[in-house]
Amino acid sequence: MRHRRANLPEHAQLAKLEDERAAAAADLVAAETRVSDLELAQRQAETDLEPVRQRRVRNQRRIDDGSVGDAKALAGLVEEIQHLERRISDLEDAELEVMEQLENASAERDDLAARDAEFQGRITEVVARRDEQVAAIERQWRAKAEERAGIAADLPAPLIATYDKLRSSHGGVGAAELRNRRCTGCQLEVNAADLRTFAAAPEDEVLRCEECGRILVRTINSGL
Ligand SMILES: [Zn+2]
Repeated sequence: MRHRRANLPEHAQLAKLEDERAAAAADLVAAETRVSDLELAQRQAETDLEPVRQRRVRNQRRIDDGSVGDAKALAGLVEEIQHLERRISDLEDAELEVMEQLENASAERDDLAARDAEFQGRITEVVARRDEQVAAIERQWRAKAEERAGIAADLPAPLIATYDKLRSSHGGVGAAELRNRRCTGCQLEVNAADLRTFAAAPEDEVLRCEECGRILVRTINSGL
């Protein structure tokens, strides 16, 4: 159960998803930065346009209201308006280009944000599945622990102590069946002399494998 809990496929799936999401997150941050830079550039373009437009309106008003009597001054105003209009047109072209770039960058940012949300959704799903599996293993664990406590209560304490010690030093297997004259713990065959001793031993005597030291459990298949 410990092995199963540590090796759930969800652990590997999560690690992979989180790596992919981290890589995509860098792209998203870059796209967000591009969008905010372009928004700033658009605001700047508007700020640059404002005084030029105001000046053109002011000049036009002075021409229209007839307040400028001097022909040369009037010609100067008309010329300045033409100059201002070229300037406005250039600034508006630049702003339009920024707006177009902003539109593309926003679309890219939205795509990346949607991808990020999709990763988050998949991660949430896998986390839920992992937690479910872990909880199921832990429920089985508690049931087995209770079962073991019930069995251990009926056994002599020194035998339990020996078994626990063997189990912790022998890969989790403290007792093994003696089957066809072979210890199923270490898979080695028991020699003839030991077999004779085992066969003569009382039923309640605790036998130990001479090779690996594990407790040997006799059955009708032991070959004794
Ligand atoms: Zn053995």
